[in-house]
Order: sequence, then C-alpha cells, then structure tokens
Amino acid sequence: EEKGYAPLCSGLEDFYTRRMYLRIQDCFNRPITSAPKTWIDVVRRCSTDNNSILNPTGETIRCLNLGSYNYLGFAGHDDYCTPRVIESLKTYSPSTSSVRVDGGTTILHEELENEIARFIGKPAAVVFGMGYATNSAIIPSIISKGGLIISDSLNHNSIINGARGSGASVEVFQHNNPSHLEEVLRKQIAKGQSRLHRPWKKILVIVEGIYSMEGEICNLPEIVSVCKKYKAHVYLDEAHSVGALGKSGRGVCDLLGVDPEDVDIMMGTFTKSFGSCGGYIAASKEIIQYLKYICPAHLYATSMSPPAVQQAISALRVISGEDGSNRGAQKLARIRENSNFFRSELQKMGFDVLGDNDSPVMPIMLYNPAKMPAFSRQCLQHNLAVVTVAFPATPLLLSRARICISAAHTREDLNKALMIIGKIGDRIDIKYFPAEPKKT
Ligand code: PMP
Repeated sequence: EEKGYAPLCSGLEDFYTRRMYLRIQDCFNRPITSAPKTWIDVVRRCSTDNNSILNPTGETIRCLNLGSYNYLGFAGHDDYCTPRVIESLKTYSPSTSSVRVDGGTTILHEELENEIARFIGKPAAVVFGMGYATNSAIIPSIISKGGLIISDSLNHNSIINGARGSGASVEVFQHNNPSHLEEVLRKQIAKGQSRLHRPWKKILVIVEGIYSMEGEICNLPEIVSVCKKYKAHVYLDEAHSVGALGKSGRGVCDLLGVDPEDVDIMMGTFTKSFGSCGGYIAASKEIIQYLKYICPAHLYATSMSPPAVQQAISALRVISGEDGSNRGAQKLARIRENSNFFRSELQKMGFDVLGDNDSPVMPIMLYNPAKMPAFSRQCLQHNLAVVTVAFPATPLLLSRARICISAAHTREDLNKALMIIGKIGDRIDIKYFPAEPKKT
C-alpha cells in the first residue's frame, strides 16, 4: 500500500477476507491420512473465534467417504491395477523428468493413447499430466481471435480459463438449454454481412457430460443436432461421465445414443472413474497430430507420471472387460444402482436433490450459506466425509453439499449415510419438501 502499491495477496474475492470465511476454514482443506476409499481417515481441525486454526495436527476420524470422485472404486488397492502400477513405478519411476517430445514419452503413454481412443470411439488421442490443464491449454490451441466460443453457463473453471485465454469471443448459453444455444448461434451468425458470409472463423460449442456442481447429464443429442444445423464444432468435457455413465462406461454418448463421430473433441480426465491422474483429448487423427505439434502443454510440460498412466490403462482394461473378468460390467451396474437408490431415498426424505438419474453426482441443496459449515461439521462428527460447496464456486445463496456415490459403497454404507444425513437434515432444517410416508 506504500506509494499506492497493492500487496500481492490483495485483489482476491472480498468474501475470502471476511471474518465469516475465516471462521469456516475447518470445513475445507481437511487433510486425509489414507487412500480416498469407501472409508477414509480425515484430520479434524478447529476454527476459532479469533480466526486462527488452533489445532494444526488435529485428531484423525475414520469416515464413510461420500466426497471423493471414486466412482468405480479404483481408489486404494485393486487386485488387477495395483501390482501393475507398482511394477511401472519400479520400471519408470514416478516422473519421466521430460516433456513429451524430449524423452517424456514412454511406451505406456502410447498404449494409453491408443486404448483410450479405441474405448471412446475416436481415431486418436493425446494425454496430458493434468485434467485442468487439458482444458485450459487445449482450448486456446484450437481456437483464437476471430473464433467464437459458446459455452454452457455452468461449465467448469478450467473451461472458462481456456476460453478466456484463447482470445476468441465468448458467449454463454443457458445451462443445458439447446433452444437458447440455437438462439445465441442464430444471433451470432446473423452478424455476417450476407446470408452466405460467416462472421466467425469457427464456432466451438463447449459442454460437459455431467455437470460437476449440479449432477445433471448433458442434453447431448439436441445440442449436437443444433450444432450440426449451424456448422458449429462440439467440445465435450467428460471428466465426470467417462467410466461412470452408459452401459459400457463410455460416457454420455453411450448413455444417450450419440455417435462419437458427431462430437469433434472428446475431453476427459483419469482422476475420477479411473482412480488416476491426468487428462486426455480424443479426436480425429488430424486434430491429435496438430495438437502434438503445437499445444504448449504437450511441448513444454513434463509428461503424465508413468504409474498414473499404468493405473489408467489397467482401470480401462477392467472397465472394458479386457482384463478377462466381468468386474467392469459389475462395477458399472453397481454405480447406477447405488446412485439411483441414494438419490431416490434422499428425495423421499424431503431433501432438495439436484441432478439426473444415473448420475453419481448428487448435490443436496442447503441454500443458506450458514447451513454449510453446520452440515459439514455435523457430518464429520458422525463419521461422514462430505464435500460442501459455497460461494464463489456457487452463487451465494445456492450453497450445497455435493455427494459422490461409488460402486464400492455397499447398501449397508448407503443406508448408514442416509440415516445420518436424515437426522442432520432435521436438526439444521434443510428438508425443503414434505417427506414421503414410509411404506410398512
Ligand atoms: N473438467 C471438469 C468438468 C471437472 O469437474 C474437473 C475437476 N473436477 C476438471 C475438468 C479438471 O480435472 P482434474 O481434476 O483431473 O485436473
């Protein structure tokens, strides 16, 4: 502030600097001391009146895990994946210590690229060390000034970042609403000087398979048909849907019967259903070749960690049945059953639950931001690990708890969680609908 300079840590959202946020810090960044399996060890810390976290080490609480993206239960030990990952660690070490083009490509990287492309139903793929960076680096590599991005209003921050960094013009359409997308497209194309003149070099429509804060599944068939009509390209982020949706786990195309040919760029991550790290882009051979030549995240970033690559390959083989078992099919059936059971039971109790059937992402609406720390702390007290989300990740009055269901949850786990959440719901008054009478 001296001589008019602002300190480095200023300019953040005002909310962060207020006492209220400081008082609920204990609800975030809780360290864990185990793998993010069905049961997880969470360190509880205290947030105190004088805004400091008093207990830096805290006590460790064993919790039923409803917070991690462990959709297919690959977190922790897996009889098929883990020995292979250990072997790859011995062979390759945790890091390639190189970028892809300079010694950072192992045989495993190429294997994963071939296998994920085949699984998704695209001719080729390229993998990156981080899912977030996949969006934020790829979008600026495929569109720039003179292009137009039309983005769903609830797209993930990595997409927003990529879109802003691209230099293209950005328009937003109402969440998951193909009619509004069409309206925006029509308006934008009408900016041309004549009926035959297109005012944009290219148009890229960006959507997600499952929206991570809403649990909603993309209305992909209608979005694809609008895009075809206006010759716009489609970019689909399947971070939460690949491996979790569809009869064979191939994501939203599989679930809703869309031909992957009709989606130009299929993006996904290995951090959720595959229990690994990193991201991928699957597309035509020309696009993938082009990205390998020009994308900075391919040229200048150290490649995906080999054990993470091996974990993704092994999980993919289990999902597709190439491990020679039917565990993949069982996991897929299980995540669907578990998700549909949990969602409908919460709704019967009177909770306001967002999202679609089959989606393992289940936001329970809390609305009032003050209910967020109450819900989070009481869950932890009763050995439930949940994620609560508030401003700035959601609008201020749309706080929520975001439950993630796993194929690894047993019916007993889910019933236990329902009983605890039901009681907390009564105590902090977050059942916004009348409960359904219990059948006797
Ligand atoms: N896209 C979406 C829709 C996401 O929800 C996330 C993070 N959860 C990412 C991209 C970033 O992926 P990663 O966490 O694997 O870096």
